[in-house]
Amino acid sequence: MTVMVPSRTPALITPGRQALDSALHQLDQAAEHLRLDAGLRTMLATPRRSLTVSVPVRREDGRMDVVQGFRVQHNVSRGPAKGGLRFHPSTDIHEVTALAMWMTWKCALVGIPYGGAKGGVAVDPGMLTQRELERVTRRYVNEILPMIGPEKDIPAPDVGTDEQTMAWIMDTYSVNTGYAVPGVVTGKPLMLGGSLGRSNATSRGVQIAAMCALGRSPEGVTAAVQGFGKVGAPAAQFLSDAGCTVVAVSDATGAVYSAGGLDIADLRAWAAESGGVAGYRHADALDHAELFELDVDVLVPAALEGAITAENAPRIRARLIVEGANGPTTPEADEILAANGTIVVPDILANAGGVIVSYLEWVQNMQAYSWSGGEVELKLRDLMEGAYAEVRSLAAARDLTLRQAAHVIGVGRVAEAHQMRGLYP
Ligand code: GLU
Repeated sequence: MTVMVPSRTPALITPGRQALDSALHQLDQAAEHLRLDAGLRTMLATPRRSLTVSVPVRREDGRMDVVQGFRVQHNVSRGPAKGGLRFHPSTDIHEVTALAMWMTWKCALVGIPYGGAKGGVAVDPGMLTQRELERVTRRYVNEILPMIGPEKDIPAPDVGTDEQTMAWIMDTYSVNTGYAVPGVVTGKPLMLGGSLGRSNATSRGVQIAAMCALGRSPEGVTAAVQGFGKVGAPAAQFLSDAGCTVVAVSDATGAVYSAGGLDIADLRAWAAESGGVAGYRHADALDHAELFELDVDVLVPAALEGAITAENAPRIRARLIVEGANGPTTPEADEILAANGTIVVPDILANAGGVIVSYLEWVQNMQAYSWSGGEVELKLRDLMEGAYAEVRSLAAARDLTLRQAAHVIGVGRVAEAHQMRGLYP
């Protein structure tokens, strides 16, 4: 008997599906290394709870649009689910599942008591007015309300969302609860219980990770940053402030290059005013693709998944890649980079600064107390450097890449927590 297997044409594999395939591949490698049994592997590969909602939104002209929203709790064995909320037109359930899974390993790796979650709404925030955005956010939150809460699942900013989005979430949840519940989201404005140091935390963490991996003075170190948004722009700034020469950055509008180094503060002012880095007068224009091929010491992908693939990986000349984005490197690209001797500080380690300071914000909220910026920074540095040292020593001891080692630690801790709790009933 012949079995008809529907062929998977490349056009049907969405970026979200690719991200999930990458996440599952990484889990598989770690599970193999840890010799986890088949049942546990299946459990870790499957999200604990997953909700798809339709979000009707009243547009300014009176029309009603309906957009899709998602919230996935991948794992809650080590604590409440934690992870950002993404507004992006191409987000789908597969992408959100992959991002939720990465949050689980990330939180376990840096030793904060959370599981992993992610949310997404398939909208382009740039195409909506502020009032439309507020309505989408509040209605989405209303639809996922039973899933979230300071002890259940705590959203935070991600691509396309910001402090204002978090304020609307906090308000919608609080109004429904009957009193103010600041601990239901992190990345809030300071006046609503946000934490000092949260808005730049991911980027600060990227810089700390880069310094750990460099292992030498940043003087004379050159860097290129892909993405000049919430993560990329402050990361470029921190690298530059630390003494690196940031020679190139890119965003959706284009890429710019200056061999002598960009004045990041000036470029940020230009990008804020003109809507992007393109057209910046004190640098040369560059192709998006060329940024990845520059002869620099450090490359920081800080945009979306799948930026470094089997196609461009062979041309990458950077000695060190520090992943500000989640999932920027495909497994095929990873193999090429490893073969070429490129060190990759993986996303779940390099960009963990965001969720670390989210955790610190939540702890402050739960105690109705706040710490100084200095205290937050110290705790962030401590957790990042500790996690980096653990990953590096496991990688050296077992001859693993930093990504493999990071996943072995993250997946191992979640598996252990699950086994210790036992299976109910
Ligand atoms: N969206 C960020 C991440 O991917 C932060 C998540 C959080 O703070 O909960 O790590």
